[in-house]
Amino acid sequence: MKKVLVVDDSKLILQMLEIEFEQLSNVEVLYADSYSSAMRLMRKNKNSIHMALLDVSLPDAPNGEVISLANLHNIPSIVLTGTMNENVKKLIKKNDVLSYVLKGTPKSTKQAVKLVQRALDNYDVNILIIDDSDVALEDLSNILHNNNINVLTASSGKDALSILEKTEEKISVVFVDFNMPGMDGLEVTIKLREIYEKDQLSIIGVSDTKDKTALADFLKFGANDFISKPYMVDEVTTRLNSNLELLDLFTKISDMANKDFLTGAYNRRYFYDSGAAIFAKAKRKHNPLAVAMLDIDNFKNINDTYGHDVGDIAIKEIKRILDKHLRASDLMARFGGEEFCIVLEDISEVNVDKLFEKIRKMFESNVIISGEVEIKYTVSFGIVYGLSDSLEQMVVLSDEALYESKENGRNQVTIIKT
Ligand code: GH3
Ligand code: MG
Ligand code: MG
Repeated sequence: MKKVLVVDDSKLILQMLEIEFEQLSNVEVLYADSYSSAMRLMRKNKNSIHMALLDVSLPDAPNGEVISLANLHNIPSIVLTGTMNENVKKLIKKNDVLSYVLKGTPKSTKQAVKLVQRALDNYDVNILIIDDSDVALEDLSNILHNNNINVLTASSGKDALSILEKTEEKISVVFVDFNMPGMDGLEVTIKLREIYEKDQLSIIGVSDTKDKTALADFLKFGANDFISKPYMVDEVTTRLNSNLELLDLFTKISDMANKDFLTGAYNRRYFYDSGAAIFAKAKRKHNPLAVAMLDIDNFKNINDTYGHDVGDIAIKEIKRILDKHLRASDLMARFGGEEFCIVLEDISEVNVDKLFEKIRKMFESNVIISGEVEIKYTVSFGIVYGLSDSLEQMVVLSDEALYESKENGRNQVTIIKT
């Protein structure tokens, strides 16, 4: 749960914001209608407020004092203001405010909450800045840190490539300076694009305003966007947000194509796409694979007794339990109703047996509580171990093994070798 502080003296605006915030999960919102109550909340929740959405003018603090107070507590903030004048601009600049929203319309409420959501999501975003100038690195780092972003820096294209290769965290965006000794920004962009597609890594080209052609060249060579130095806080934030939104959208679209709506597990299509590479690698290295098929025993009874909705909960539980026991490199997909298929590499036959016995027992002892009802069910596994001519064939064999488990009384693991 991330905490957000919202301060406004208008009851109506607080109510509108509350409606919007209710749509967000994982957010706890603290509401205050005055400077003094905001101050109390900040003290009480010291170091645990992630974001603030702040009204400039409050009856007991008419000149944006609450904004300075949030800054003092190191709480990143977004400002709600009725008007935009020089004083408000100064206030925003002085207190490292992330962004502002002109209030008064239903749209602006939505926009404000969207900005808060973005800033909260940024806590999980990693960005790499490539620039040979320490000053420029620091300038941009400060702006990004203020946006809650985790920042990595590199002073050359070469450094950057090795950071990207080594780092375990996923880097979403790269800012790359045009003018650098050795590889310039355009060359770095070309190199990066050989490895990462536009929907995996967003590249933002950076250059001095005088290098006018560099900006267009950046786009030509595969950058997603560009920005000129010196950095303006609001411009960096706005461009960054639109690039991150686009990346999120790419992820959503790919999830829609590759994942099952009910459980979030991969679908059959993704299984065969991604499984083909795993199978090819195993074949090349003469390594055995395990393909395991899982099916709930007597699942029709659950649907018939408790209804389809409870049946759905039982299916979601499969994904949860499998996630808990499988490695990140194992490929798991929902094949149909209550049937899941898993491909495992780099595992011995003995360990396959151990692992799936453990999972089988886990299901056996598991009780799902949903409202008034308690649901229990067992599962059967059919597993093929070895390598046959194709992944498709291994799936067929695992299905045959599953049939054996069912024939022999269910709630068991059958392994056949190929
Ligand atoms: P067995 O032990 O032989 O596997 O018996 P079973 O009752 O599980 O038989 P079967 O696998 O043939 O039953 C599958 C049932 O799953 C039939 C179908 O109505 C139900 N089903 C398929 N997809 C969904 C779904 O998305 N949600 C729910 N709730 N039920 C589903
Ligand atoms: Mg079944
Ligand atoms: Mg079935």
